[in-house]
Amino acid sequence: MKIGVIGGGISGLIAARKLQSEGHEVEVIEKSRSVGGRLATRRIGEGQADHGAVYFTVRDEAFDLEVQEWVLAGVVKKWAADPHPKYIGTNGMNKLAKFLAEPLHVHLNEKIVNVTATEEGMTLTGSACYEYDAVLLTAPLPQAMELLEASDILLTEEDKKLQSYIFEPAFVGLIELAHNVPTGEYGLLDQNLPDEVLKIVNNFEKGISKNPILSIYMTGDWSEKWYERENEAIAEIERLLSQELGELKVASKQLKRWRYAQAKQVFEAPFYKLSDQPVWLCGDVFLRPDDPSGNTRVESAYWSGLKAAGNLLDNLRR
Ligand SMILES: Cc1cc2nc3c(=O)[nH]c(=O)nc-3n(C[C@H](O)[C@H](O)[C@H](O)COP(=O)(O)OP(=O)(O)OC[C@H]3O[C@@H](n4cnc5c(N)ncnc54)[C@H](O)[C@@H]3O)c2cc1C
Repeated sequence: MKIGVIGGGISGLIAARKLQSEGHEVEVIEKSRSVGGRLATRRIGEGQADHGAVYFTVRDEAFDLEVQEWVLAGVVKKWAADPHPKYIGTNGMNKLAKFLAEPLHVHLNEKIVNVTATEEGMTLTGSACYEYDAVLLTAPLPQAMELLEASDILLTEEDKKLQSYIFEPAFVGLIELAHNVPTGEYGLLDQNLPDEVLKIVNNFEKGISKNPILSIYMTGDWSEKWYERENEAIAEIERLLSQELGELKVASKQLKRWRYAQAKQVFEAPFYKLSDQPVWLCGDVFLRPDDPSGNTRVESAYWSGLKAAGNLLDNLRR
């Protein structure tokens, strides 16, 4: 079978690897110039900074088994534990995505704008047309629904219920310092911060950057309020930062704006299959009923990708 995976974030990459390992011909189609999605690391001068997921947590044995393979491959390492072990990319979180994508056929810089059902299967249209027997759609749910609504595809009333899932945005300020400042044991400050700030991560002390670059993660409410005021937002982040850490010598500053950072409400199943088409939706918002955390995160995206691929395989075997 030929299977198309829209999106090269962790859920798409995990699903694609599973499907390929079962002997299917799989292609990942990613709109950005690199895989990773919200596993994101940006080069800044001589250094780099994570500006999506800071770490991931491991809460069960099955996930831990796979994570230990990533540890052996040198792409992730244990970071902290409270109470569950947390892991970070040894050279940034995006490197994990690049590692997972290594054995896969990935089309980069290719945004899918139409999903069509044909007699033979599904056609995905971007700058070219791609024919598949089945499709996995892993974009953040509001983006996935936008794509399906704009497509020549019939959605049932049940399918349309997915439109009600809302994600909040996130602003991450990236501030390169001329001198390092102490930022806790793991380079992470996440207690007693100004209300607008979720956490401050020092990428130098995290061990992924040659120079001190701080990633300042702002709350969803604050990011929503400042969403259309990017230039003022970075100045405000700098002001809040100096309020917390004192006057700082800033070498450069920039902002990452995530439109869809985190779901406000989770879908209580690990994937969704469209009622009338061989299209599976998955990603971090789709949680297993026995999910031990209840939050959308790298771990939930991993499980969603794996479970969606498993269900697709079961369907093909029938
Ligand atoms: C600021 C921030 C901080 C976070 N911190 C943490 C953390 O500390 N710990 C944690 O566990 N989680 C964290 N998360 C959440 C975590 O990053 C996500 O849950 C996880 O990476 C989501 O993976 P995914 O595969 O579901 O989606 P994504 O990573 O969003 O992947 C979807 C992919 O689909 C692509 N795509 C979308 N539309 C199309 C299209 N039409 N055609 C082709 N490609 C398309 C996108 O470009 C993207 O690459 C954070 C997220 C953000 C934004």
